[in-house]
Amino acid sequence: MSIFQEYDPTNVFARILGGDLPCDKVYEDDKTLAFHDINPSAPVHILVLPKRPCISFLDFVNQAPTEEVASFFKTIARIAEQVGLASHGFRLSCNTGEGGGQEVPHFHVHLCGGLHI
Ligand code: AMP
Repeated sequence: MSIFQEYDPTNVFARILGGDLPCDKVYEDDKTLAFHDINPSAPVHILVLPKRPCISFLDFVNQAPTEEVASFFKTIARIAEQVGLASHGFRLSCNTGEGGGQEVPHFHVHLCGGLHI
């Protein structure tokens, strides 16, 4: 998955964002959607994604206005608080590109919690 690749509008998260596929929604606003991972690797495993079509972390950071990037990460913090993860702690991860193990080519952050309870 190269940064020169074109965004695939049929990827699974694009289809969720377009309303063609369902998701177990946790949070939504005009710029962000968050839902439970279908194959959780932690007791709480939420995926947070910007609605902007961007393939990877690098695409998002390079293409989105700085305010939108900052706002996205503030939203992740708010979600962590809302779902009760802030007090125990949590893990954020973001697989980037083929070498980073990214499977779905729409930028997303994994928010995982309940790991050490
Ligand atoms: P990544 O390897 O970072 O691209 O992670 C993709 C994640 O998306 C994996 O943890 C999958 O379990 C998850 N996933 C794939 N399809 C769906 C879906 N339809 N709904 C929710 N999560 C999904």
